[in-house]
Amino acid sequence: MMENLIAGINRFQNKVHAPRSAEFEKLADGQEPWALFITCSDSRIDPNLLTQTKPGELFVIRNAGNMVPAFPTPGGGEGGTLEFAVAVLGVPHIIVCGHSDCGAMKAALSPEAAATMPSLKQWIELTRETATEVNARTDLAAQPERLTAVTERNVVAQLDNLRTYPCVTKAIAAGDLELHGWVYDFTNGEVRAYAESTGSFVPLAEAYQGGVRA
Ligand SMILES: [Zn+2]
Repeated sequence: MMENLIAGINRFQNKVHAPRSAEFEKLADGQEPWALFITCSDSRIDPNLLTQTKPGELFVIRNAGNMVPAFPTPGGGEGGTLEFAVAVLGVPHIIVCGHSDCGAMKAALSPEAAATMPSLKQWIELTRETATEVNARTDLAAQPERLTAVTERNVVAQLDNLRTYPCVTKAIAAGDLELHGWVYDFTNGEVRAYAESTGSFVPLAEAYQGGVRA
């Protein structure tokens, strides 16, 4: 496997970077990403592949369960990275993107599964309230339904957490920032977006039928 990674670097340098050297050299001038994309560390998600974007176009925060602790976050990498993206880079959009079959969301539903991983156990505490609510729902009999529900509600909870940051509320109030909640299903490629008007997740085309701001 490691050989594959090293061979990949060689291929990248010769077949990708060299022919597109002008494009990569331009990156040295700085970055002006189109969005802050907050997603899970899961290896089955590739934000640039999913959104068909290039280097310089997405600023990314990744962690187990695509979470952002509410402000203030002592020593939190997520909060600091978020502040840099909003206050310095001025990203016009923040997307929180959960996904199907998320291990962190499974652990949130069954915290005992993370008993031997103290740091992970503490991390998924961030979504405990959401998981407890979903576990208590009697209309969700099967585990797949509960997993979908907690994945969606966790995204909405992170949107709420984002709004606890002064830089975020300030940028939203100024009309410079929009928040988006998505869930990506890698089995069929579908992405559903949170529609605030109905409180539900709908296909991307439906969610943005009124158009989007650049
Ligand atoms: Zn995940």
